Amino acid sequence: MKQRLAILGSTGSIGVQTLDIVRENPDRFEARILTANRNWEKLAQQAREFDADTVVIADKQPLRRRCAKHSRDTDTKVYAGEEAVAQVAAGGGTDVVVNALVGYAGLAPTVAAIEAGKKLALANKESLVVGGACVMPLARKRKAPVIPIDSEHSAIFQCLVGERAPVRRLIVTCSGGAFRDFRAEELANVTVEQALRHPQWDMGAKITIDSSTLVNKGFEVIEAHWLFGTPAERISVLLHPQSIIHSMVEFEDGAIKAQLGTPDMRLPISFALLYPDRANRPGERFNFLNHPQLTFAEVDRAKYPALDIAYDCLRRGGTAACTMNGANEVAVAAFLARKCAWLDIVRAIRYALERAAFVPSPTLADYAEANAEARALAAEFLQLKN
Ligand code: NDP
Repeated sequence: MKQRLAILGSTGSIGVQTLDIVRENPDRFEARILTANRNWEKLAQQAREFDADTVVIADKQPLRRRCAKHSRDTDTKVYAGEEAVAQVAAGGGTDVVVNALVGYAGLAPTVAAIEAGKKLALANKESLVVGGACVMPLARKRKAPVIPIDSEHSAIFQCLVGERAPVRRLIVTCSGGAFRDFRAEELANVTVEQALRHPQWDMGAKITIDSSTLVNKGFEVIEAHWLFGTPAERISVLLHPQSIIHSMVEFEDGAIKAQLGTPDMRLPISFALLYPDRANRPGERFNFLNHPQLTFAEVDRAKYPALDIAYDCLRRGGTAACTMNGANEVAVAAFLARKCAWLDIVRAIRYALERAAFVPSPTLADYAEANAEARALAAEFLQLKN
């Protein structure tokens, strides 16, 4: 029987690659629900190609009318608004929810999908960074499988398949982002174009900037903690510029398992959708002789303070990581809009963390408040006008 998919964020980098997997496996998947924020043209085109049952455009006006016009000659149902994204995540008619949304907006649909007991293929790391303490216990309670799409976490997940023994250490690899080869003093004047030039991966703008600051790697440490239950002190980050080893697990007997391959997000996406099976994917096979050197180094923690800030947030728990995330989202958007410097991203995060209220055992409502406060504090620091 075909798996019926809801692909939240189908117009983004992960969403489009998820649809590539659907295209490669027409006998195994059906894309029933597709969502976008504003890109109604791409959404309408995807809805036609995949004969989607339902589409949602999160940003309401005037896209609703135009999208509805486009889909009138198909039978596709059209909804608008952020709440509708969470509603379709929980709704009937699908087996798997692929959460490929970016940012805090992914949290409510993650919770909704889990509440409904759906299998969740999770790319939206912010769901776990912000609300892992609520999300993972809920997933256990509802017996909803959460399978990571993020390449590092997919690698760790793949290394853990079949293992029962305790883990000594998770080793999360790190390409180093756009400024890997820059000296610290060169970072003051880096441009948006430079920051968007990731050495290994072609991704959405927000995660590419997060990779340049290593906020992304910090978020991945937090994500790994929630997915695999490993404490912060047993998760390490290792610079590996070639991005061939996607991450590793060390066991108590000293054995280390790694998952390797060419950087291509379609592999972790297809693994998340088909686990415990695997797809027979087309394309060239990995050739070790083309990659004779795999190198490793320490991350420069002074050049990339965001990594230690994320570790601190993980150790503090509560709303700390939610505050970091909210401030980061505002600062990254400001940097992309050329309203602040690259170094201001981490400064805004620090400013928000120093001033925000801290709730030690938050509810989902507390996360919403912490997110709003962090966003306001970052905007204040960056002197942004609405
Ligand atoms: P993109 O920015 O490329 O795509 C984001 C998608 O979400 C788009 O469909 C966008 O719609 C939609 N969207 C954006 N904001 C909202 C909102 N407020 N409400 C509803 N929908 C919204 O992101 P990526 O695909 O790069 O990343 C998605 C997630 O996956 C992120 O959490 C990222 O960290 C994670 N990830 C991504 C990787 C990658 O290779 N791209 C690798 C590993 C993890 P629209 O097109 O209309 O703007």
